Amino acid sequence: MAENKDNKMEKLVSLAKRRGFIFQSSEIYGGLNAAYDYGPLGVLLKNNLKQLWWRKFVTERADMVGLDSAIIMHPKVWEASGHIQNFSDPLVDCKQCRRRWRADHLLAGDGAKPGYDKEKPLAEEVKCPTCGGELTTARQFNLMFETRMGPVTDEGVTVYLRPETAGGIFVNFKNVVDTMRQRVPFGIGQIGKAFRNEITTENFIFRTREFEQMEIEYFVHPDHWQESFAEWLQMMRDWCGWIGLPADKVQEAEISEKDRAFYSQRTIDFQFQYPFGQEELYGLAYRTDYDLQQHQKYSGQDLVYTDPITKEKYVPHVIEPSLGVDRSVLAVLLSAYTEIEGGRSTTTTAIKDSEVVLKLPYYLAPITVAVLPLSNKETLAPLASDVFNTLRTVFSTQYDATGSIGKRYRRQDEIGTPFCVTVDFESLEDKAITVRDRDTMAQERVAISEIVDYITGKLPRI
Ligand code: ATP
Repeated sequence: MAENKDNKMEKLVSLAKRRGFIFQSSEIYGGLNAAYDYGPLGVLLKNNLKQLWWRKFVTERADMVGLDSAIIMHPKVWEASGHIQNFSDPLVDCKQCRRRWRADHLLAGDGAKPGYDKEKPLAEEVKCPTCGGELTTARQFNLMFETRMGPVTDEGVTVYLRPETAGGIFVNFKNVVDTMRQRVPFGIGQIGKAFRNEITTENFIFRTREFEQMEIEYFVHPDHWQESFAEWLQMMRDWCGWIGLPADKVQEAEISEKDRAFYSQRTIDFQFQYPFGQEELYGLAYRTDYDLQQHQKYSGQDLVYTDPITKEKYVPHVIEPSLGVDRSVLAVLLSAYTEIEGGRSTTTTAIKDSEVVLKLPYYLAPITVAVLPLSNKETLAPLASDVFNTLRTVFSTQYDATGSIGKRYRRQDEIGTPFCVTVDFESLEDKAITVRDRDTMAQERVAISEIVDYITGKLPRI
């Protein structure tokens, strides 16, 4: 794989750390495996991504409402959903080096669940990928994080950190119907943290034990699930384009009946070509009425829906588009990362180091505008500050006065800033500044009084 040879992942991980996007968690204590913190630029990028999802999938749609449910829920929720009994992966230990592996990953190549037969032990020729040692037979390992609730540990109740945000949506179905007058078909969207005690974690923020999801449960009449499924499929395709993923890097995999969860009648996985292989990015599933039926049974509450017009009574079926925030951030960064051998400048023929431009969609970039006074001389500072103060009330703006102008442009290119404005000595006279476009490097002189409108006009509306 060409990208692998280029060490794109290593370069991205290094850039993410160097430029304040993503840090290893608890780094000053030696780090915590597979846990990451989003730094000052990372949190801006992640928030932009989540806000875009919220706007496109929730607020712009009349058939959607939002929710923010608790991470710790009644333990019966996870009994009803089947997580306590079934939310497990097959774990094998290496008898020699004691490393742990997921049996399904070892069999079919990393990440490939399909094809793994739970009933059969691993063939003898499957050995530990690290040391070649013999492996134990697989045992099921539950992925839910358990803790005790209440001040006295011995008497406390065992509770779980939610392994997905969906549970909070299902248990609030009745509340939403009773309070929001939504008529089926309608959906509930939620963004929040989820936790899974993954057996193996790997590839930076691709698989971590604490992560974020953006999930929708879309409630439909059982006769009309196909239309809604098709609609959400298209929406997810559009989303991949909005966040800048090249179409040829995203594949849709129709999951066969044998490999689907038993209650699902159709599942499509969106896969992305990461440098380490083609792996799951998102999932879209038709979950029938399994979830609401289970919660009805375990809670004893009536979750039957009555159509306000036809008066038909039924338990709604569900379409679930499930998107990982962190896998989105990784795919976005990988797609945006562009290396230009020999640098970008065309004004000199001197051989230079390669330069990096993060070609993020403008609306995802952590910083929209950088204000760069051309000289550090005191005379420019007041005007440059005025420009900065005007812009920062409207856009995410950074002020950078250190280093040569070339270095400052490169720093902004590396973090994906779409516009750099330079304030020069002429600006004192003509009350105008120079705006440089990240992608074309074209420069334009714009009156300071018009700069906000100018940049607003350049930002794509989607
Ligand atoms: P995988 O097969 O990779 O373990 P999954 O099929 O178990 O994933 P789902 O339960 O469908 O994943 O979760 C929905 C989405 O949540 C995934 O498509 C992914 O974007 C995200 N996700 C799931 N597990 C993790 C994780 N450990 N780290 C980061 N994101 C995750």
